[in-house]
Amino acid sequence: MQLPSYLHNDDIGQWGVFLEQIDRVTPHLGALGIWADTLRRPKRCLIVDVPVRMDDGTVQHYEGFRVQHNVSRGPGKGGLRYHPDVTLSEVMALAGWMTVKVAVLNLPYGGAKGGIRVDPKTFSSSELERLTRRYTSEVGIIIGPDKDIMVPDVNTNEKVMAWVMDTYSINVGTTSPGVVTGKPVNLGGSLGRRDATGRGCYVVAREAMRRLGMEMNGARVAIQGFGNVGDAAARVFYESGAKIVAIQDVAGTIYNPAGIHPLQLKDFLAAGKNSLVDFPGAERLPDKDFWSVDCDILLPAALENQITVGNADSIRARLIVEGANGPTSPQAEDILLDKGIVILPDVIANAGGVTVSYFEWVQNLSSFFWKESEINARLDQALSDAFKAVWDLSHARKIPLRTAAFVVACTRVLEARQLRGLYP
Ligand code: NAD
Repeated sequence: MQLPSYLHNDDIGQWGVFLEQIDRVTPHLGALGIWADTLRRPKRCLIVDVPVRMDDGTVQHYEGFRVQHNVSRGPGKGGLRYHPDVTLSEVMALAGWMTVKVAVLNLPYGGAKGGIRVDPKTFSSSELERLTRRYTSEVGIIIGPDKDIMVPDVNTNEKVMAWVMDTYSINVGTTSPGVVTGKPVNLGGSLGRRDATGRGCYVVAREAMRRLGMEMNGARVAIQGFGNVGDAAARVFYESGAKIVAIQDVAGTIYNPAGIHPLQLKDFLAAGKNSLVDFPGAERLPDKDFWSVDCDILLPAALENQITVGNADSIRARLIVEGANGPTSPQAEDILLDKGIVILPDVIANAGGVTVSYFEWVQNLSSFFWKESEINARLDQALSDAFKAVWDLSHARKIPLRTAAFVVACTRVLEARQLRGLYP
């Protein structure tokens, strides 16, 4: 299918990966395949200019994006990312993966994503607040609790969500907590949301390991990324008896075959401006050696396109749990599957976050809040059920888990598309 004219062939990046995944699933969609082109085009892409008055008095302009990939099953849902490499094609791919993810979990949402092409590390807190508020105002025409709901992603957090919620609320004239999830608890955020994505990585890994005859107790885990996802995942795996043997973040890589204590590492990083590589409880490794660390579980939880043909062959893990979105290129996936490595795809492995986001949104709409134990139990059940459906389909049809997850999800999305019909 022809690319939309707003993308150039040499600029399709992660969107090209998403299209390839749709191509791989289409033959498995039966009669619904006639609607598959719906998934090859985002429904709506908004590109905005975000002018920001900096602390030194100058005005700088940044590119902002909000993409709603598909809303056949409900309002758009997806993160907001601040990163210097953000592009329209990347945001389109991330929005597409959200469409699939929410449908695998059977949540009543569509897929969306947003981003600003900016390096927030160079910003003061007040500059970051002005950037966030202006971006929110610019995309305000397409977001809302029943239109498109944001959530933190790379380099955004609860504080950013509070600014989005406040700006949107002021602009529409009513306090509107449901426009974002992953916000602070005393603004209507949900208990359990902060750790939900990492906890979800653990739940799907546990379910897979049970079926593969692997032991969680003593399992060696290597994690790339120690942010929202990687930090929580490290803690939950550690508390369940696994051993975190290697961690890599943007500063470098650390290794300890006897195990890295995630809480001690978190405290170390929180104290002053410490860097991961100076953590006394581990030795430093060259970054490229991270991928060949001897481990049972490899958990990429940083950025997309990290496992490539360049390093796939050196990976020694038995199980890959995709905490990040799009960390494995399709060509690398083929190599890994040939080696017998089991890949738990992002659209289910990191779906814990959006599942508890859904719980948060439901709590906001009903103004009735649940206990953390109830949220964690519902999360565990929802992910275990979704995982079973994907695992069983994968084995029944002899297709990779990613293709199976896409079959489950795309069937739901395209059935909704067909039932709604084509307007006019
Ligand atoms: P974050 O900004 O909190 O953390 C990112 C981590 O990755 C940091 O530790 C950073 O140092 C590290 N990192 C960045 N670039 C790196 C590089 N080149 N090499 C090694 N490490 C690098 O982000 P996050 O919210 O934890 O998101 C991580 C991934 O998980 C993203 O792909 C995101 O889309 C995905 N995800 C996040 C959530 C969520 O709830 N936050 C939900 C689903 C998926």
